[in-house]
Amino acid sequence: MAAHFDVIIIGSGAGGATLAQRLAPTGKSILILERGEHLPREAENWDSKAVFIEHRYRTKEHWYDKRDRPFTPNTHYWVGGNTSFYGAALMRLRGRDFEEVRHAGGVSPAWPIRLAEFAPYYAEAETLWQVHGARGEDPTEEGTEPPYAHPAIRNDPGVEELRSHWLNQGWRPFSLPLGVKLDAAHPLTSPCIKCKTCGGYPCLLKAKSDARSLAVEPILDLPNVTLLTGRKVLRLETDPSGKSVTEVVCAAEHGEERWSGDIVALAAGAANSAAILLNSAGPAHPNGLANGSDQVGRNYMFHTLTAMVSLTAAPVDVTFPKTQAVNDFYFNDPRGGFDTPMGHIQLLEYMSGRPWRARCRTGCRRPWCPTPSPARWPSGCCPCW
Ligand SMILES: Cc1cc2nc3c(=O)[nH]c(=O)nc-3n(C[C@H](O)[C@H](O)[C@H](O)COP(=O)(O)OP(=O)(O)OC[C@H]3O[C@@H](n4cnc5c(N)ncnc54)[C@H](O)[C@@H]3O)c2cc1C
Ligand code: SF4
Repeated sequence: MAAHFDVIIIGSGAGGATLAQRLAPTGKSILILERGEHLPREAENWDSKAVFIEHRYRTKEHWYDKRDRPFTPNTHYWVGGNTSFYGAALMRLRGRDFEEVRHAGGVSPAWPIRLAEFAPYYAEAETLWQVHGARGEDPTEEGTEPPYAHPAIRNDPGVEELRSHWLNQGWRPFSLPLGVKLDAAHPLTSPCIKCKTCGGYPCLLKAKSDARSLAVEPILDLPNVTLLTGRKVLRLETDPSGKSVTEVVCAAEHGEERWSGDIVALAAGAANSAAILLNSAGPAHPNGLANGSDQVGRNYMFHTLTAMVSLTAAPVDVTFPKTQAVNDFYFNDPRGGFDTPMGHIQLLEYMSGRPWRARCRTGCRRPWCPTPSPARWPSGCCPCW
């Protein structure tokens, strides 16, 4: 195999795979280097014990927090990256997100680019990722977005009831944009069956809009595309100026490999892309590659979220609850009193007792809690999520 390609893409997740499928029709020679393997299709894909308690598909590696304490991150190294496990909620950023934003905890500076530069790519991505949604419901929309190619997913009766409560309070709930291959008009042949094991699980039916099924697998037979799995990229080597990548160095089962490309795209995820850049320090860039700002790897952010659980006397009629969201408080509280962003509210996916137990570190012995150990209530329970 040639060691030189027109394009080398590191990582086959949302970013790398989308780029690869977009470039594949150009005929350019493309090499995708992926540290993971193909995700097995097996019964455990939809087994809550295997997924949430045994963490069958998560990386076993340790990362270290700011106090040097090890932890196992909720990240997955497989072809398709984290998208095989994601919740498929596919939101756009808003124009104001790119401007300077004053938050309760400090000021987020303006981006050097604006939404208008992203907008055409959002439109393309929403088509590729088969997003279902409805325009005109979310009050934070710009009003210039093209319609979704697929209709919003219908609410289960329990969600419809909750939506009516929200409307009664004057909120403006909207259909959560979701990337699933659902053909509601033809349920017998629809790839997606709206099952109870979606967010957090790989889709056994490959009906979730994930990078492996939408972007990687459709291009694998093309003669100009090569995917090498089990290739962990270690560092990028550059010419003496430090401006041009000359070789991509990776670890393979049989030892070190070196590849070169006219263009090298680094799409190994937020933490690993930064790690590769920092590991690529050289005489021309002693703090790591592309790190003139000294900010590479310093501002990693994962979802900051609170899960709220509501207990009802009567059973709630729902199997696929993640269809509604509220953005009324996204920029501030419109009724006054809190003038900084408060975030986005979204229904979570269906959760059986097992994922609940896996996340609860206290156990409260309440009838609805399956964890059998003594506990503190209420302060020690839900905050552990
Ligand atoms: C449980 C869960 C739920 C989520 N839900 C949502 C949601 O509902 N909506 C949403 O928008 N986002 C969601 N996300 C986040 C979303 O999955 C990520 O933002 C997205 O996948 C990031 O894309 P990426 O290409 O940057 O990285 P990834 O998808 O992580 O892909 C990176 C790829 O690079 C590979 N790689 C890493 N290091 C190396 C290396 N050194 N050499 C070679 N290859 C390497 C990895 O194996 C992986 O395949 C969720 C994530 C998780 C874990
Ligand atoms: S069948 Fe539909 S709801 Fe179930 S995991 Fe697949 S995409 Fe998600």
